[in-house]
Amino acid sequence: MASHIVGYPRMGPKRELKFALESFWDGKSTAEDLQKVSADLRSDIWKQMSSAGIKYIPSNTFAYYDQVLDTTAMLGAVPPRYGWNSGEIGFDVYFSMARGNASVPAMEMTKWFDTNYHYIVPELGPEVKLSYSSHKAVNEYKETKALGVETVPVLVGPVSYLLLSKLAKGVDKSFDLLSVLPKVLPIYKEVIAELKGAGATWIQFDEPLFVMDLEGHKLQAFSGAYAELESTLSGLNGVTAFGFDLIRGTKTIDLIKSSFPQGKYLFAGVVDGRNIWANDLAASLITLQSLEGIVGKDKLVVSTSCSLLHTAVDLVNETKLDAEIKSWLAFAAQKVVEVDALAKALAGQKNESFFSANAAALSSRRSSPRVTNESVQKAAAALKGSDHRRATEVNARLDAQQKKLNLPILPTTTIGSFPQTVELRKVRREYKAKKISEEDYVKAIKEEIKKVVDIQEELDIDVLVHGEPERNDMVEYFGEQLSGFAFTANGWVQSYGSRCVKPPIIYGDVSRPKPMTVFWSSTAQSMTKRPMKGMLTGPVTILNWSFVRNDQPRHETCYQIALAIKDEVEDLEKGGIGVIQIDEAALREGLPSFYLDWAVHSFRITNCGVQDSTQIHTHMCYSNFNDIIHSIIDMDADVITIENSRSDEKLLSVFREGVKYGAGIGPGVYDIHSPRIPSTDEIADRINKMLAVLEQNILWVNPDCGLKTRKYTEVKPALKNMVDAAKLIRSQL
Ligand code: GLN
Ligand code: ZN
Repeated sequence: MASHIVGYPRMGPKRELKFALESFWDGKSTAEDLQKVSADLRSDIWKQMSSAGIKYIPSNTFAYYDQVLDTTAMLGAVPPRYGWNSGEIGFDVYFSMARGNASVPAMEMTKWFDTNYHYIVPELGPEVKLSYSSHKAVNEYKETKALGVETVPVLVGPVSYLLLSKLAKGVDKSFDLLSVLPKVLPIYKEVIAELKGAGATWIQFDEPLFVMDLEGHKLQAFSGAYAELESTLSGLNGVTAFGFDLIRGTKTIDLIKSSFPQGKYLFAGVVDGRNIWANDLAASLITLQSLEGIVGKDKLVVSTSCSLLHTAVDLVNETKLDAEIKSWLAFAAQKVVEVDALAKALAGQKNESFFSANAAALSSRRSSPRVTNESVQKAAAALKGSDHRRATEVNARLDAQQKKLNLPILPTTTIGSFPQTVELRKVRREYKAKKISEEDYVKAIKEEIKKVVDIQEELDIDVLVHGEPERNDMVEYFGEQLSGFAFTANGWVQSYGSRCVKPPIIYGDVSRPKPMTVFWSSTAQSMTKRPMKGMLTGPVTILNWSFVRNDQPRHETCYQIALAIKDEVEDLEKGGIGVIQIDEAALREGLPSFYLDWAVHSFRITNCGVQDSTQIHTHMCYSNFNDIIHSIIDMDADVITIENSRSDEKLLSVFREGVKYGAGIGPGVYDIHSPRIPSTDEIADRINKMLAVLEQNILWVNPDCGLKTRKYTEVKPALKNMVDAAKLIRSQL
């Protein structure tokens, strides 16, 4: 019985790759230094899998930035603006595509399916010339050979590559990306031939696009492409194995049971690559045994549901987590061991003590009083099936709010955070480490809030924020105060390039022991006569940016968080906060769409209990919401602020197409991701464009997102120009 791992995290157990990359980009270390760190990380991984007993060990799942960009390099599909013509692609061109350089911006990046990983989007068109230009896959394979480890080189499959691409600028919309296939396949053939020459007997083609509902011609492209590659593949096992995620797709097992091609291998992904929970080994074993009956003993391979890229690296480095919670978890390194243990058990060499320790951990998790909170369970269960929304419809609410708030037309506001200075971070760090007293901490944060309030008053902004100086991160801040959450020291997951996130772990029923933000928000409100926005993170975003428990449906966890946030909303209202923003920055990330019903419902639960005159804002961190506009309207917020400045046209088109929208809306008027300071004219121009499609009484003026990562020298003039632009247009209306 064999074992296989789809792919492995690249960053290293302590984010070694991140630091090596950033030091190289900063010119503080050489290309050789970077290569050395990377080679060491790779060899550690290969040796680890090899000594764990994994039979099919992946190679070429390492990437300096992204595996799709690696494929772009392999195919020589470099957009002309990067000035590359021929020759092996090196760091220069590669990192220019990933991050831009002094004269050319980076290629676009977008989310990888429903994960938080981002890939670099290839740009293709009829003109594209391709040639085999990065031998990385072969080089990595040879590297493993030299280490005495036999591996399976992994390639992004040709069809998924094309379907993950976008049209290069200026290419006619009718161009079919799949028509590039005849240019791509010869290069894949070269790569395959070279890998074969180097001794590879298996190659793994990742074709994740296969999970989508595909039209007939796309499906044909898959079969056509592999039929053509087959000739090159022969002798190399042809296409003799299929790997499936048996965790996500609830119907996959049944489909396999009803028809699986004779004589092919099934790589059964039973160990979840997307979370951090220990596998239920006994249950997996039963699944595997039933599959054995279908494909045959010698054709079943135990595998992970997807690449382990999307989970944390190694539990060994978690020294702060308590032993009980730790026993419930498995990061990438532990999942490798699980896969191997399952394969051995199937082969009749069951490691009894490993299996019984696993069973004991699972049962402790099931029965732990830390996991279950009866009253939370009851309250969440009571929500199901019923609807929650504010009793009064939005127009009447907006009138009631306006009576109280008395805002000018085109009111100005910001999204929440103000710049986080080095000193500020130091104050938070020292307070956490108990190096400064609570009293000193509160004093320092109050001073920071006062500074932010004064700046906004001076700028004449209409609805103020307190600046979020007490928050490290918009999810962690709330997770730390809610029960049911745990935090890791090194549970990093790659988000893009060298950027990683450290999602909290939701292990138990979520409740709110006490108010989380009321003290800071009311303190801030006491400093000004203008409305101060309370600032919360919404339940869907907290859910989507955490590792979520797998022992109950996601929506149940989401409802629990919604109830906790609801209590906070109502406490803010009682504390005199009349405008409350509930950020749903990550609403989009949980798609597919069937999730939107309970996601939107969860949002409404948080604020269905407030008075008409309390104004509920929400904020979203993306622009292309054309496809989910009706869900967004159904959230029933009074005001929504959205990222927009990089895609005016897309947003405008929604409203041009006649979508009826009556609530307040603030499409970001400038990009906060860039240090550039937009001029008053430029912002005014944007506002005018919006006014052409939206009623003037619903339009708000605000930046794209929070200002946390910017400097005050950028923020002050940019906001000044923003307020000036709003005033200019008000005077013309
Ligand atoms: N209120 C948050 C902030 O301004 C929102 C951040 C976000 O949308 N990602 O920082
Ligand atoms: Zn945002």
